[in-house]
Amino acid sequence: MSFFDEWLVAKRNSLKTGGRWREIPDIDHGADLIVSLNGRQVINLASNNYLGLAGQEAMKEAAMQGVMAYGTSSGASRLVTGTFGLYNQLESALAELKKQEACLVFGSGYAANVGLVTALAGRGSVVFSDRLNHASIVDGIVLSRARHVRYRHNDMDHLAYCLKKNRDIREKFLITDSVFSMDGDRADLGALVALCREHDVIMAVDEAHATGIVGQGRGLACELGLEREIHLHMGTLSKGLGSYGGFVCARQEVVDLLKNLARSFVFSTALPPSVIGAGLCGVRWVQDHPQEGDRLLELAARFRGFLASLGFDVGPSTTQIIPVIIRDNAKTLWARDHLLASGVLVAAIRPPTVPQGTSRLRLALRADMLPEHLAKVRTAFVRLQEAMA
Ligand SMILES: *Cc1c(COP(=O)(O)O)cnc(C)c1O
Repeated sequence: MSFFDEWLVAKRNSLKTGGRWREIPDIDHGADLIVSLNGRQVINLASNNYLGLAGQEAMKEAAMQGVMAYGTSSGASRLVTGTFGLYNQLESALAELKKQEACLVFGSGYAANVGLVTALAGRGSVVFSDRLNHASIVDGIVLSRARHVRYRHNDMDHLAYCLKKNRDIREKFLITDSVFSMDGDRADLGALVALCREHDVIMAVDEAHATGIVGQGRGLACELGLEREIHLHMGTLSKGLGSYGGFVCARQEVVDLLKNLARSFVFSTALPPSVIGAGLCGVRWVQDHPQEGDRLLELAARFRGFLASLGFDVGPSTTQIIPVIIRDNAKTLWARDHLLASGVLVAAIRPPTVPQGTSRLRLALRADMLPEHLAKVRTAFVRLQEAMA
């Protein structure tokens, strides 16, 4: 056997025996509220299309208009020739939504985080990062070669301790998700801002799950009136906003610097016109429907109450992302299959995505659910509870 063949077998076996082997499910089409899974129609609570924008007629038309005006590709990176009129409109609209001077769109949220962190931090810097931050933040920090200090999730005492320990380092950055992907809880941005001020730390917030939902769609920083205190506001167009691409909003001089230093921006082709057209349509939709996020959050609060009344552990969630913490890996998979048999698709999340012993179902509620869908989901959980008792 060649080394490559040996390596393939060994890698595959280690992933499989560790229960970490993944495959792309047979779903058509995954962003919709009702999807076909292995040929069956089920209610989809596993997508991040929180506002149901991805399938709307206006969004599809905006994507098509982008194609008709500019073709199918941007043809180059932004700094070369890849830019076009819609791009500037999208960045202006995002800056306005986030109450910032300027905005830079990246190829994805992943690329935005990697670009933002590597542009700011380097050898000799230290980056403070919540232990439950998204993988793209972790990858950005590793790539930046900065010292990586992970503080315990939402633990301000631990963070204060870490800040004191690193007080002699001048270049300090802090980055946090505003709404956490796997628990649906919120960062204590007020306390973080106070600590960053005290210790002269540059602060960035990742609003991937809050944009379009929290704070009339502007995100948690704006909801708390902290848009000026936080230096960089990152988000994605691929979740609530129904399109694709990531962005960073900040002061003009910060954005100008990112254009020069963020390698994931400089060395990657600009997004195609269809994606930018749909993104602009999504941002405008959120600006025109500031109450939709609140409506979804209220629906989620009622649904958490219902799950808790059945005895399920919904963790610290305060948003549309609701974990149902089962703990045991095998039992979590069994619960997922049980819900599926009742026609409800949720994600089963296990280590290493979440800590050992905290395996869970992850529900992403959506604004386009009608009472009939909610009723069906409730029935599915009642049945699950009976089967588990
Ligand atoms: C999804 C996500 C990203 C990455 O965004 P993409 O546009 O999917 O690349 C970054 N941060 C957080 C918190 C996310 O949930």
